Amino acid sequence: MTSKIISCEFFPPRTEQGVQKLGKIREQLQILQPAYFSVTFGAGGSTQEKTFETVLDIQQSGAEAAPHLSCIGSTKENVLKLLQDYQAHDIRRIVALRGDKPSGWSGGEVGELRYANELVEFIRAKTGSHFHIEVAVYPEFHPQAHSAKEDLDYFKQKVEAGANSAITQYFYNADAYFRLIDSCAERGIDIPIVPGIMPIANFEQLVRFSDTCGAEVPRWLRWRLKDFGDDKESLQAFGVDVLTNLCERLLAGGAPGLHFYTLNQSRLTLEITKGLGLVKT
Ligand code: FAD
Repeated sequence: MTSKIISCEFFPPRTEQGVQKLGKIREQLQILQPAYFSVTFGAGGSTQEKTFETVLDIQQSGAEAAPHLSCIGSTKENVLKLLQDYQAHDIRRIVALRGDKPSGWSGGEVGELRYANELVEFIRAKTGSHFHIEVAVYPEFHPQAHSAKEDLDYFKQKVEAGANSAITQYFYNADAYFRLIDSCAERGIDIPIVPGIMPIANFEQLVRFSDTCGAEVPRWLRWRLKDFGDDKESLQAFGVDVLTNLCERLLAGGAPGLHFYTLNQSRLTLEITKGLGLVKT
């Protein structure tokens, strides 16, 4: 097994059936010996509870769990309550984010903590060095950024506030990642920056999602994927090939690991990692 850091991201299932299914997916992914499984966090109340439950389920299985925690629309009091709950359960790693307002948002103003750097500062002020803090970074820049420079400067603020490492938004262009690493080095940012990897499961879903989140599906890839039409199996096999190549380039170029956006599925992540020689079966 490699010394690279592998991690896998889940979203919290909403049904009991989903919980059971995720348990199996997690067992299948254990073969990668991930450093941790992270669990996303929504701005709505019930999904936040589900994040907490999913995190505890993972932890009870003996694996390391890392909750995502966003500050948008929240209060310092609520954030502190969550931090204390996680601390009480000996959760040691957090993915700290600003978050996005969901469509149809009625939660009022932005919140007491306006940006992720303020959230990281708050976590450090309240919990010291208890948590390993991961933050987000965008090789193709955040959709609301005014300029590349400004976005990078704001990333630096998160690092200076106390982030230990970063996970990138997904991307399909390795150069965007390597340029990001160079720009960070120029700014004296030396924390590990782990590429986020999004396996390709569904063309329409990928395009829809990418348009809003600061990730680009390059024209050549869109066109190739579009040609598969309803042939999902061939599309996914092609996607595995593209992603395996991308990951190979990233790891060979010095990426410290890979963070898989699994969408609560294991097969594509396992096929990609098998192609990389990270699964010894
Ligand atoms: P920030 O770092 O705060 O940046 C947001 C924007 O504001 C950027 O345009 C930045 O340039 C600008 N900015 C930053 N700091 C300042 C400042 N001090 N002053 C002015 N402008 C500033 N979303 C969820 O809701 N739940 C999740 O679980 C989740 N998980 C994610 C995991 C990863 C690995 C990634 C990459 C993203 C995830 N997201 C999640 C999405 C994320 O919440 C959104 O992309 C959100 O819009 C930005 O979050 P951030 O933490 O990067 O924000």
